[in-house]
Amino acid sequence: MSTHDAVQILTPGEVKLADGRSVEFANLDVAATAPCLRVVADAVAELLPFYGSVHRGAGALSERCTREYEQARETVADVLGHGPGDTVVFTRNTTDAFNLLARAVPAGTTVVTFDSEHHANLLPWRNAVRLRAPRSPGEAVAALRACLAGLEGDVLVSVTAAGNVTGEVWPVERLAAVAHGSGARIAVDAAQLAPHAPGRLAGLGADYIAFSGHKLYAPFGAGVLAGRADWLDAAEPYLAGGGAGAHVADDGTTRWVTGPARHEAGTPNLLGAVALATALRFLHERDLATGEQALLRRLREGLAALPHVRELRLFPADAERVGIVSFTVAGRDPGELAVTLGREHGIGVRTGLFCAHPLTRRLLGDDGPAQPEPAGPAPAGPAPAGPASAGPASSSG
Ligand code: PLP
Repeated sequence: MSTHDAVQILTPGEVKLADGRSVEFANLDVAATAPCLRVVADAVAELLPFYGSVHRGAGALSERCTREYEQARETVADVLGHGPGDTVVFTRNTTDAFNLLARAVPAGTTVVTFDSEHHANLLPWRNAVRLRAPRSPGEAVAALRACLAGLEGDVLVSVTAAGNVTGEVWPVERLAAVAHGSGARIAVDAAQLAPHAPGRLAGLGADYIAFSGHKLYAPFGAGVLAGRADWLDAAEPYLAGGGAGAHVADDGTTRWVTGPARHEAGTPNLLGAVALATALRFLHERDLATGEQALLRRLREGLAALPHVRELRLFPADAERVGIVSFTVAGRDPGELAVTLGREHGIGVRTGLFCAHPLTRRLLGDDGPAQPEPAGPAPAGPAPAGPASAGPASSSG
């Protein structure tokens, strides 16, 4: 185990290649799951000796753990600039957060989203109005405005802040203004924006924000749904069980608590919440964007100079983006290429349809290699039309 000095990330250090050489591993798969920050590992290690029940005891350990859990919640609320009507619910990840929100949306609400969303913000919404992916930020704003003008009743718009396939930053502030201008609410998938620009989250104008700890350089298992408390307090509990019931009668009739505990039944993931909050605060206190943009520029220029390499883009090339790049190499199977990069060069990358099947298929167009999507549960819609890669390094996600 070693750490990188600049940001102090835990890494395995060297890995062995297929030919027996050892090289320093370059993990470029951070958009899927980021390695753990040293400061996060330290915060978790410090808490471990005090491991005790959260919200379920009066002893010193329980008190400490309850305090740490609620402090983690406050840290998240603080970074998000929360007001009195807002709440933070700890979830397992972004996917869990959107499933919770989908259950909490009042009946009769129309949900509007784009078909370019990650599945976490696509599949929980049954019967949503799905707008076709725009080809520029301005087109996204215009498409939403036109859509909302034709809708009546309660509306929730649900969009990504930064795409996981292209890294492109969506005009969330402008989309929020359009949504609010027509009386709608807006939920934001910040899974990719949160690690890159936590300082922007508070100014997005979002009514709900979802993100995951494991993309924030914290371990797996904790995520956040944050935002307006009213729908959440009125909704059926996402999980029924201990901690969610204020009073349970002998016949099982239950009066549920309000507040985050309504949706967090069962013993919570204290270490996950503390890790997530520690990572969020750490990243929020630093400006890592300048260095990231310099690296991004270098990578994109290098790729652009290579023959046969095509970058996947939805928006124009100069659109704002975070440090994520997807590309194809003409004539090469992405899965095989990824295995070669890993085994022969010690470089970890991701292939597949990136849990955004409609978008990635569209971006690949007819140029993608004709390989089936790797094995996994059958998608709900029509079978994917070709361009996913197979092979050990591939992922349907
Ligand atoms: N939204 C975006 C933009 C993502 O990139 C991801 C993960 O790749 C998710 C949502 C889902 O995150 P999780 O798998 O942590 O639920």
